[in-house]
This record gives sequence, structure tokens and C-alpha cells, in this order.
Amino acid sequence: MSEATIYELSSPKRTGFQFKDADVPPTKIPENLLRKELPFPEVSEVDVIRHFTRLSQLNYAIDIGFYPLGSCTMKYNPRINEEIARLVGFAMTHPLQPIETVQGNLAIMVQLQEWLKEISGFAGITLQPAAGAHGEFVGGLIMRAYHQSRHDTKRTKILVPDSAHGTNPATSSMSGFEVVNLPSDERGNVDLDKLKEICDDSVAGLMLTNPNTLGLFEEHLLEVISIVHEHGGLVYGDGANLNALLGIVKPGDLGFDIMHFNLHKTFSTPHGGGGPGSGPVGVAAPLVDFLPAPVIGIVEEGDEELPPLYGFITPPHSIGRIKAFYGHFGVMVRAITYIAMHGCDGLRKIAEHAVLNANYLKHLIEDAYTVPYDRRCMHEFVAEGFWDDVPDIHALDIAKRLMDYGVHPPTNYFPLIVKEALMIEPTETESKQSIEHFADALNTIAQEAHNNAELLHSAPHNTPIGRLDEVKAAKELVLCCWIRPED
Ligand SMILES: *Cc1c(COP(=O)(O)O)cnc(C)c1O
Repeated sequence: MSEATIYELSSPKRTGFQFKDADVPPTKIPENLLRKELPFPEVSEVDVIRHFTRLSQLNYAIDIGFYPLGSCTMKYNPRINEEIARLVGFAMTHPLQPIETVQGNLAIMVQLQEWLKEISGFAGITLQPAAGAHGEFVGGLIMRAYHQSRHDTKRTKILVPDSAHGTNPATSSMSGFEVVNLPSDERGNVDLDKLKEICDDSVAGLMLTNPNTLGLFEEHLLEVISIVHEHGGLVYGDGANLNALLGIVKPGDLGFDIMHFNLHKTFSTPHGGGGPGSGPVGVAAPLVDFLPAPVIGIVEEGDEELPPLYGFITPPHSIGRIKAFYGHFGVMVRAITYIAMHGCDGLRKIAEHAVLNANYLKHLIEDAYTVPYDRRCMHEFVAEGFWDDVPDIHALDIAKRLMDYGVHPPTNYFPLIVKEALMIEPTETESKQSIEHFADALNTIAQEAHNNAELLHSAPHNTPIGRLDEVKAAKELVLCCWIRPED
């Protein structure tokens, strides 16, 4: 009974709502807009509450426990962000309202732009992109527009390291470039010799993640950037995850020309499950004129009596609009709340604790798991999820078994350059105890792999649903219960 769908709970004439008698005459709806039958389930209020509460408990979430999904930065989302985002003046405004009536909201967006500039060292910001990948795409379009404005049309390639997030080659290609794979060296850095060899005047730019997806700070960063600049290319920074850098170093100062931020990673707004994100893009001074339109700014200076008037500005060589309206405002409110709550010193502490937590966790599991490219990590690290002496155990088995210990598995099989990768990012919001609990679980699983491999192969055992056939799940998607399989 408890596993029933809401349709199976349906019982004729049972209802969960009460309408007052209408105090206006009923409207006649045209026949052709009406369906004969609407197969809504007939359920009571308590049926609905129990059903959805039960479903909500089938999901794992950061509010339930440790969620060390590398690269994704599943940090705790402070509740104050939600309270502020729900204020009527933020939540109930409409993007088509006259600008005189939304001055406060525009002021907030300008403030966020200013703070992101301060954090990153960039000269201009667009808040429009809806996610990290969208920001990368915008960055690619800005690179194109910049080179075209200089009549430098031979630049057709973007270099992307082999450790890159999958969105990097995808968005480079979508913005019209040929993607050239740049190998890493044995310390997990960009291979400098290879970079020197392939960098020429056909290169529009390099897309670089620093720290990279191995959680390692690029040891020759300044040299990498200057090689690309010497050849006339631009350097795009994938700043989805700024957790290791906040308050410590500004990517703009390091020489990056363009970079996106993921407000839904670094700045704690909820993500996962395909909800709205926000991927603002920052650019260095020579690229400010190419930003998407509109940029939010002051359109009329204030004086002693009147505050400034905020409005929309179209940069002279703008690549155009890339998002309906102005981006995901609710996400921006959460991010600016988060920044305000931490202040400058607090932001720096985030980075310090994120790096400390990752290194502590790495240390706790290093005897049981191989960590290739073993040097001080930043906010995350990548371990190998296999052992030569138990060849039939894979990273996937370890990930599934972790669920039995009540934690979410780390990212696995990415980055591609580590065999059977387990990519682990504890984040700064976890306590010493939760990190140790996770390390204990991983270390116990390493023993189980050697003593009782079947336990791993058949895991998870304690979750509402056991091991899924992932290929079937991907190929035969059933995402809604509106059409049940037997219908
Ligand atoms: C998450 C992530 C992205 C993509 O961000 P989305 O908001 O999911 O589009 C890109 N690069 C890195 C390194 C990431 O971690």
C-alpha cells in the first residue's frame, strides 16, 4: 500500500479540496478546449500529503546528509537565503513591470555585479546566463565577437584540457569553434610542451579550469596564460567552482579574460534536479563592450534629492540577449544574501575550510585508496575506485555500497583521465565528524571489497530501490506517472 502510486490510491468521489460557492457567474468555456475526461486521481487531502511526504523521503538531499559530489559543490544551503528570496518585494515582482517600480531589485542586481567584480577581479559582469554551461557558451560567443571585431578571422580553435568538465568541449563547439584536446602532464597540470607546440594564431582561446577537476592548482598557471596571450588568444576560466579561491586570489588578477561563476555551487543556492541555476560571466576590461544586453546599471545619476535611476544598458558591441528577461533573479537574491552574510573575511574562511576539509578527508582514506597526482589538493580530490588484486570491483560498486552507510556517493567516472575515478568534494559546510564518518565508510568498503566482494556487487541493500539497470533507465525514461506503463 505504501508504495502505491497516487492513481492506485484513487477512490471514486473522494476529494481533497473545498470550493466556496462562486460569487461570479460561471464562464462558458468553448467546447473544443474541453477534454471529455480528465483522469485526475480522486484522493483526500491526507492521501495527498502522505503520498508526497513519502516520495520526498525517497530522495537523498543535502538536508539529510553528507553529499560529496565532486565538482558539483553540494554545500548546505542556508535557510536565510530562502527567507530573503521569499520576501514579497523580490518574489512577487514581474519582469515586465515598469522599471520605476522595481528599482530595489535592479539595485540588488547591480550590487551583486559589483561584489562579483570585487571577488573575481573582472571589469564587467553579465547576470543573464542560466547556468555554468550557458555562461561558457556566452564566453565562447564573446571570444568570437572580440576576434571578429579585430578582423582576426583565422582563429577557429579552442584548446580544452583533457581533465575538463564535459560542458567545456560541448559549449566551445556550440559557439562555433573546433575543439582541440590538450593533454595533462604526470603532475596533473596542462602539458606545457604540448601547449607550446599547438598554440598558434589559429587559436581563439583556451578554456581552463583552475583548480582543475583533479582538485589541483595549475602549477604553471601564469606561464600557461601568457603562452596563449602571446599567440593572441584569450583565456576562459571555468569558475563553476570557486570554493578554493574565494577571498584568496582573483582570477582576473591572474590574467583570465573571461570566466563564469556558478551561483548555484560556490554561492550556496540550491541545485540538482534541473532547477534554476545562475551562471554570471565576468570579463576583463577589453571585453566589456561585448557583454550580452541588457547589462543592469545606473541610467541616470542621482543627486542630493533623488536616488540614481537603475535601468538597462546595451553595450556598444553586445553579442545580444542570451536569456529571456534578465536571468534568474531569485537565485541572485540567494547568492547576494550568502555573500552579505559572510562578508569578506567569511568568504576567505569558506575557501580555507573547503581546502582543509578536502585535504583532511584525502589523508584519512589514502592508505586504502590510491590518489594519483598525489599533491596538496584544493577543494576536492580524485581517488581511484579499484584495486588490482580485486579486479571485478569497480568505482560503481563502491559508490552503490556507500549508500548503505547513509551517505551520497561521490562523482564517479569523471574526470576521464583517472581510471575508475571517485571525485570527492566535502565542502566547507561539513563537520569533522561527518567527514570522519564518510572516511570510515570508505575504508570499511575497501576491506569489504577484499573480504566480501558480493556485498559490493549487490549494493545498495538499505535504500528504497536496489541497484538499477542504468542503461535501461537512461534509454527508457519514465519521468512522469501520468501515463503509467500498463496504460
Ligand atoms: C558544474 C560545472 C559546470 C557546468 O555548470 P552547470 O551549471 O551544470 O551548467 C562546468 N564546469 C565545471 C567545472 C563544473 O563543475
